[in-house]
Amino acid sequence: MVISCCAVGCANRQGKANTSFYWIPFDVERRQRWVAAISRKDWQPSKYSRICSHHFLQGQKSDDPLSLDYVPSVFAHTKSPEKRRALGSLGNEAEEEIVEEASIRTGIEVTVLVSKMF
Ligand SMILES: [Zn+2]
Repeated sequence: MVISCCAVGCANRQGKANTSFYWIPFDVERRQRWVAAISRKDWQPSKYSRICSHHFLQGQKSDDPLSLDYVPSVFAHTKSPEKRRALGSLGNEAEEEIVEEASIRTGIEVTVLVSKMF
């Protein structure tokens, strides 16, 4: 099975240069933070879900809870971690809108969004 990244708008697959893939953590609290950061609609990671190293500021995850890379933060729907922090104060609604925008821009999951509307 080809390993590919579960992030919205990311098409990275195993074999791409300078790219590592990480399992979603099993630790409940950290896992929730990863899922929230990944921001896919109605999505829970499966045992096959992995995220690539491109979603970490330093290009790799950190197991230090004080590190910014303890949780992935670089996504198509977040231009920078600063922007994400600013959005955090606006609540979930604003963030959800951005996710939809990002999905439409990249052409991924458009079918899913459309079918949910009807
Ligand atoms: Zn990725």
